[in-house]
Amino acid sequence: MKKIKVMSENCIGCGACVGIDPEHFAFNDEGLSTVISNESLDSENLMNAIEACPVGIISFENDDNEKEENEQKTA
Ligand code: SF4
Repeated sequence: MKKIKVMSENCIGCGACVGIDPEHFAFNDEGLSTVISNESLDSENLMNAIEACPVGIISFENDDNEKEENEQKTA
């Protein structure tokens, strides 16, 4: 399954992704971007957020191992 990947350790907390696409990104307790949803992966906001990241750390990964540790349901 395709998932969004953010290398949070390299995030500079600029807020671009969170501002452009709050459906998929939010700040964690350390003020770094984390992925909060893997729905609607073809959304325009998501593409814009990926392009807007100044350090280029947002990408997609294929998760073929059925790992779900990052999966969160939006309430
Ligand atoms: S756009 Fe990139 S650097 Fe800025 S908060 Fe999002 S992941 Fe971090």
